[in-house]
Amino acid sequence: MSRVELKDLRKSFGGVEVIHGIDLTIEAGEFCVFVGPSGCGKSTLLRMISGLEVQTSGTIEIGGRDVSDSDPSSRGIAMVFQNYALYPHLSVRENIGFGLSLARTPKDEMKRKVDEVAGILQLGDYLDRKPKALSGGQRQRVAIGRAIVRDPEVFLFDEPLSNLDAALRAQMRIELTELHERLGATMIYVTHDQVEAMTMADKIVVLNGGRIEQVGTPMELYERPASPFVAGFIGSPK
Ligand code: ADP
Ligand code: MG
Repeated sequence: MSRVELKDLRKSFGGVEVIHGIDLTIEAGEFCVFVGPSGCGKSTLLRMISGLEVQTSGTIEIGGRDVSDSDPSSRGIAMVFQNYALYPHLSVRENIGFGLSLARTPKDEMKRKVDEVAGILQLGDYLDRKPKALSGGQRQRVAIGRAIVRDPEVFLFDEPLSNLDAALRAQMRIELTELHERLGATMIYVTHDQVEAMTMADKIVVLNGGRIEQVGTPMELYERPASPFVAGFIGSPK
């Protein structure tokens, strides 16, 4: 597990700045949730941490290492998206092991790791199925399995549950929280859903218009919102 540090991170698209100088430390092992309305910059921020998007200025450190100019593949991160894009022609086992086979992991080690991950995610009975023969929740677990199997230092989630129905979302929230406790990894989780933020986070970062409005625990934000925006967004009584 690794600490993530953002220093004066900025991003412009076509000369228009959308991320305005973010300074933020996410402690090793923390479950940190970025929350805010649509368009506030959550995905852009996450994509810069992953290296899928290049920052206009500022620095990103992961585990004390400046990765600002590093390839996504060498940052020690794994990303799970909302539209989990599994390979339809590959089995669950092959989907979970895909990154390992790219890295030329020996077959027996790959089998051991995939079996272990499938056990954690309750996918053991489905390893030979194709994605189309799975439920939405099972598919999302496969996508998470693909991330876990590579032992990343940091997990990045971009609204991973937003395509699931309410009951399944509630269940997956609990499973992800348990997974975090089990792995002890640093997790950065993006959502526009206040309930997800309040129930899952160790630390919440409230974003608005490409800036941080407030950082704190769910209780701190609820009891002492720094602005009417935070109060309104979190649903604080004040
Ligand atoms: P969120 O994930 O919080 O909904 P985004 O990070 O997707 O927000 O977007 C933040 C802002 O950056 C929005 O105004 C969006 O239109 C803009 N933006 C994001 N990606 C691009 C892009 N590739 N080109 C131009 N503008 C973009
Ligand atoms: Mg987004």
